[in-house]
Amino acid sequence: MTIKAATAANTSVTTTQQWQRMDAQHHFHPFSNNADIRAEGSRIIERAEGCHLWDSDGKQYLDAFAGLWCVNLGYGRQELVQAASQQMQQLPYYNLFFKTTTTPVIELAHEIADIAPSHMNQVFFTGSGSEANDTVFRMVRRYWDIQNQPERKIIIGRKNGYHGSTVAGASLGGMPGMHKQGDLPIAGVEHVDQPYWYGEGGDLTPHEFGVRAARSLEEKIKALGSHKVAAFIAEPIQGAGGVIIPPDSYWPEIQRIVKKYGILLVVDEVICGFGRTGEWFGSQYYHLQPDLMPIAKGLSSGYLPIGGVVMADHFAETLAKGGDFNHGYTYSGHPVCAAVALENVRILKRERIVERVKDDIGPKFQQAIATLADHPLVGEVRGVGLLGAIELVKDRTTRLRYPDEGSTGTLCRDMALQDGLVLRATGDTMMMSPPLVINDQHLDELITKTKSALDKTWHRLK
Ligand code: PLP
Repeated sequence: MTIKAATAANTSVTTTQQWQRMDAQHHFHPFSNNADIRAEGSRIIERAEGCHLWDSDGKQYLDAFAGLWCVNLGYGRQELVQAASQQMQQLPYYNLFFKTTTTPVIELAHEIADIAPSHMNQVFFTGSGSEANDTVFRMVRRYWDIQNQPERKIIIGRKNGYHGSTVAGASLGGMPGMHKQGDLPIAGVEHVDQPYWYGEGGDLTPHEFGVRAARSLEEKIKALGSHKVAAFIAEPIQGAGGVIIPPDSYWPEIQRIVKKYGILLVVDEVICGFGRTGEWFGSQYYHLQPDLMPIAKGLSSGYLPIGGVVMADHFAETLAKGGDFNHGYTYSGHPVCAAVALENVRILKRERIVERVKDDIGPKFQQAIATLADHPLVGEVRGVGLLGAIELVKDRTTRLRYPDEGSTGTLCRDMALQDGLVLRATGDTMMMSPPLVINDQHLDELITKTKSALDKTWHRLK
């Protein structure tokens, strides 16, 4: 045994501080300031049930963020545990390469085709949303090669969009903080305006601004030459960018533009998919005709990692005509992940959870968060289904933000945590995306604690 292994084996870790010390010594965190973690320690989540989490000190939190927008069914669903355990025993792993498949993958693809827009009936599986978008990148270029238009290479994304953290995913996304690290975006990716009316709409009405933001795509296509443009990628509602709900005029105009120039439409459903908007997919909510839909997160309610790309029939036919598609992952459609995702989708169907988001808890959630709009710190409250955002501003009339943008959002997030509520902040926008199984009582808790966090933040800033 090495010295390191002997030390680890003899260490009986019990207290939060001990855990934190060991974590800071050996675990480098994603999307975190690791220097801060070394100084302050991290939060340690130990268990969860329904919509609540408990940390290593036994403190309870309402998880208004469903993990990372993913635990759609809430925590502790025994059917998912059993599905995993049974599949582990029967076939813990096999791959999908070289004309092979497994039964949970076949059944899962069938279930996804059933709930997807009617012209989309084939699924390519990946391990995550980022891998799904890397797959999109390669599929789109392959598609145009097969169509004898190899010069169509450029994929257009949006400023402040989010499509994952791999090189292709971060390039397709439009997050300046990510582009700064690692010389991104890679060649062949361009970005256009986002439909963020509250932040960028100025004096325009939402309708006018929605059309203007969409037309930035048309201008970009013209500037690049439409024969060079392969696809446009966007989230139905930007999630990580701040739950940005596009004005009603936006998506119809985008749909017109992609059709006019014969450009593929990729609708990233990683957050909006599997019921978040009150429809199975955001594409159905906005009546879109995607050629590709990357999916992940709610596909398995986050219980195990799995993602995929849902393809329009014409796209899948073209790709199939092209012979071998030289792309795939060891864990594409991992059978245990697929079995859990299958059970997850079946529960969402059986318990009519998507319908409940549309007709019952979604409208109640929207009504409840709207009551926070009068708070002196709040500039706008917006949302769809079980997605919500609260803009924190210094001046509600002029929409002026506090100096050092992001610090107010972080303060409010920390105040919420103190009160036992998990919210997320992007800049000074507070975001909510609770499990789809949230009930009336949870909703009361959510609003009371959010109000308290806003009050405390407001008093600190005065
Ligand atoms: N696409 C969108 C819209 C996302 O929100 C995310 C993650 O938040 C991703 C892609 C990346 O997914 P993953 O983190 O599973 O790689």
